[in-house]
Amino acid sequence: LGEPGVPEALIAAIAEARDAGAVAAPIVGGRERRGKGEPVHNPATGVVIGRVVEADAAAVEEAVAAARKAQGDWSLAGGAFRAERLERAADLIEERDALFLGLAMDEAGKTLVDAVAEVREAVDFLRYYAAQARADFSWPVTLPGPTGERNELILEGKGIFACISPWNFPLAIFLGQVSAALAAGNAVLAKPAEQTPLIAHAAVETLLEAGVPGDILHYLPGRGETVGAALTGHDDVIGVAFTGSTEVARAINRSLAMREGPIATLIAETGGANAMIVDSTALPEQVARDAVASAFQSAGQRCSALRLLCVQDDVADAMIAMVAGAMAELNVGDPAILATDVGPIIDEEAQSNIAAYVEEARAAGRLIAEAARTKLPAGGTFVAPAMIRLDHVTDLKREIFGPVLHVATWKGGELDALIDAINASGYGLTLGVHTRIDSVAAHVAARAQVGNVYVNRNQIGAIVGSQPFGGRGLSGTGPKAGGPNYLRRFAEEKSISTDITAAGG
Ligand code: NAD
Repeated sequence: LGEPGVPEALIAAIAEARDAGAVAAPIVGGRERRGKGEPVHNPATGVVIGRVVEADAAAVEEAVAAARKAQGDWSLAGGAFRAERLERAADLIEERDALFLGLAMDEAGKTLVDAVAEVREAVDFLRYYAAQARADFSWPVTLPGPTGERNELILEGKGIFACISPWNFPLAIFLGQVSAALAAGNAVLAKPAEQTPLIAHAAVETLLEAGVPGDILHYLPGRGETVGAALTGHDDVIGVAFTGSTEVARAINRSLAMREGPIATLIAETGGANAMIVDSTALPEQVARDAVASAFQSAGQRCSALRLLCVQDDVADAMIAMVAGAMAELNVGDPAILATDVGPIIDEEAQSNIAAYVEEARAAGRLIAEAARTKLPAGGTFVAPAMIRLDHVTDLKREIFGPVLHVATWKGGELDALIDAINASGYGLTLGVHTRIDSVAAHVAARAQVGNVYVNRNQIGAIVGSQPFGGRGLSGTGPKAGGPNYLRRFAEEKSISTDITAAGG
C-alpha cells in the first residue's frame, strides 16, 4: 500500500482521490438506480461527503429475480473462474488504495494507520478466499469407498446470500463477507451499514469492473429495519452473512425462523466483552502499551477491543498508574491529522450514549483516568478515552462500543474463579493474558471460552490466513472469517457415487 516512508505522497494521493459529489446509489443487475438521496457525514468534522440513495422494495425484488436466474451458472463456472475475478478486484483495490483509504478516513473516521490496515485486510480476504475457491471448489474430491465404486464430493454455492455489514470495518468486513459468498458460488445481495455506504459502493463497483457479473452481485444500501429486514425476510434468500450487534443478530434469527421457505443459514459475527488478565509477573510497560492499544485504537470501536482489564491485586496500583500514563499520551482528534491516535465516534447517537455512560461513572466516583478531555475538537463526535473502576468483573453487563476501559482486580489463587466469571458473561470473542509464567498462559488459554486468545500481546488485528477471527456464544456462530473452514458455511456438499464395475468402468 503506497510506498512505505513517504506518507506525504500518500496523503496527496488521498486528497486527489476525494470526490465531494460521491453518490452511493443501489446497483441492481449492473445498473445504478440514481436518486436524490440523503447526506453522508464525516464523523470527525460533520461535513457532508456524499449522498446515499436507499434501495426500495422494487430494487430488492429485481435483484432477487436476477440473482435467482444467474446463480446456477456462476456456481457451475467453478472456483478458478470466480477466483480470477476476485484476484483482479484485489489488484484494482491496491491500484486505487488512495480512494479507499480516503473513504475509510472520511466516512468511518479511521486514522491513516487504521485505514491502511483496513484496506490491507480487505485485499487479503479477496486473495485468501480466491485461493480457497481455486483449491476446493474447482474439482470433485475423491473419497474412499468399496471396490467397484467411485465416490466423489463436490462443493457448490447455496443460492442467494444477503451480506449485511457494520460500519466499523466498512471495507474489510463488507468485502470479506461478500467475497466469501461469491467465492463459494453464491449470488450476493450486499447491504452496507447506514453510516458507511460510500466505501461499500466503491468496492462493489470494483468487483463488477473485475468481472463479477451484474446479475450475481447487487448493491442495496439502506436502513436495517427496511432494506435489511426485506432481505432477511425474503424466502429466496437462503443464507445471511451478518456482522454487527448481538441484538440485531437475534432479530435476524427470529426473522429467518418465521419464514415458510427452505431452512436458511445464518453466519453471525457479533459483539464482545473482551477481557485481559494480568498477573503479578507481567511486564508493566508491555501491559500498558498493549492495554491502551487494544482498548483505544479505532476509538474502541472494534468488536475485539479490550473492555475489561483484570489486574492481580498486589500489582494493581502500579499497573493502573502505568496504563493511565499511557492514556494521557493519546492524541484525540481529526484522523486527517497524522499525529491523531484516537478518532471520532461514528455518529451523534453513539457519542451521546457513550458520553452519558462515562458521566454516570464520573458521578459515581468510578472514573479513574481520562485522556485529553480539554483538547476535543469541535464539529465532530468525540469521546475522550476513559478508564472506569469496577468492584467485580461481573459488573460489566453489556458491550460499550467506544473508548472506555474498565478495570477490576483479582486475588492470587483465584485465577480459575476469574476465568469462570469472564466466561459467564456469555460473550466469547477475545481474551488476553499477560504473564511471564508459561503454564499460566496455557491454563488461561485452555479454560477460556472464546474464539481468539492473545498471550503477551495486544488484542487487535487479525491476520487473514493466520489468525482466523470470530467468536462463540453471544459473540457469534463461527467458523471463523479468514480461516480454513469459513467458505464451507457458504456452500452445499454434493456426493456422487458411481458403479464402475459395469459399462462405464
Ligand atoms: P448493528 O447491529 O447496529 O448493524 C449492523 C448491520 O445490520 C447494519 O448494516 C444495519 O443496517 C443492519 N441491521 C440493523 N437492523 C437490522 C434488521 N432488523 N434486519 C437486518 N439488518 C439489520 O451494528 P453496527 O453498529 O453497525 O456495528 C457495531 C457492532 O458490530 C458491535 O456490536 C460490534 O461488536 C459488532 N462487530 C462484530 C464483529 C465480529 O467480527 N464479531 C466485527 C465488527 C463489528
